[in-house]
Amino acid sequence: MIANIAWSHEAEQRQLSAAPRTKEGFLGAPLRELIAYWLDLRCDPARCTKVVCMPMRLLAAKRGGQLRLDAVLARLRCGQCGEPPVHAVITDSPIDVAPNDIMDGAKWRVALVS
Ligand SMILES: [Zn+2]
Repeated sequence: MIANIAWSHEAEQRQLSAAPRTKEGFLGAPLRELIAYWLDLRCDPARCTKVVCMPMRLLAAKRGGQLRLDAVLARLRCGQCGEPPVHAVITDSPIDVAPNDIMDGAKWRVALVS
């Protein structure tokens, strides 16, 4: 199994440098170790149009920096439809929330849920 599968072809093309951790490494890390990064969260587009780019710093402040990312992800629900995200990607730079549009600043993206 390949750990760093980007969720779209465009994202794969923008994997400009190695991510600092594997998917499993991110999921097992406490939020306080991830505050420099961003979460790109998307609902099933057939059901809900919500796209959120959440700073990990904010998530750590809200949920507690000691919590592991996998535990926090399992509890995340969309504010619009109430469902968990079908895509969750951690990245080094915030995305533009327009569908499939990724800002040029991102050097890596690691899919956590896809
Ligand atoms: Zn939703």
